[in-house]
Amino acid sequence: MKIAQNTVVSVNYKLSDAQNNLIEDGAQPMVYLHGGYENTLPKIEEELDGKDVGYTSTIQIEPEDAFGDYDPNLVKVEDRNRLPEPIEVGMQFEGVAEGSDEEPVIFTVTEIADDKVVLDGNHPLAGMALRFDLSVIDVRAATPEEIAHGHVHGAHGHDHGHGEIDDSEEGDHFRSQPLQ
Ligand SMILES: [Zn+2]
Repeated sequence: MKIAQNTVVSVNYKLSDAQNNLIEDGAQPMVYLHGGYENTLPKIEEELDGKDVGYTSTIQIEPEDAFGDYDPNLVKVEDRNRLPEPIEVGMQFEGVAEGSDEEPVIFTVTEIADDKVVLDGNHPLAGMALRFDLSVIDVRAATPEEIAHGHVHGAHGHDHGHGEIDDSEEGDHFRSQPLQ
């Protein structure tokens, strides 16, 4: 079966930066609903569209097509006593960016000094060109329910019971996955 609108694609991947430093060695395949559901990066969908099981490819995606440019305005310094203890580099908090009433931003602790903490609201991959090694391992038709929800169910997919209402932010693998 070829990858097309409303197919569920399983793809093994390895993510590196433009200098070929490994960022994420996809231990689990990425499984996503193909066809503009924003389950994965549009450039990945573009690359895989019309392809079949066994297709392999390496693509480089520039920051503007991945997680955007690095925004220095999203970095802020907070007094340590305003944050919970114990605090460690790499911890994440939800917050709202200065002067913005937009949706909350995930801030990552990037530095801890004596009484100050640096919080960075940029996506960990912002400003980076990303290189993906992709290998398609499975393609199947999506179920009507998956199409209605806009994401994959079942193994490696988004697991939730019927009747669950809050279904808006799910099924987004790259964006919701904590990156080490
Ligand atoms: Zn669902």
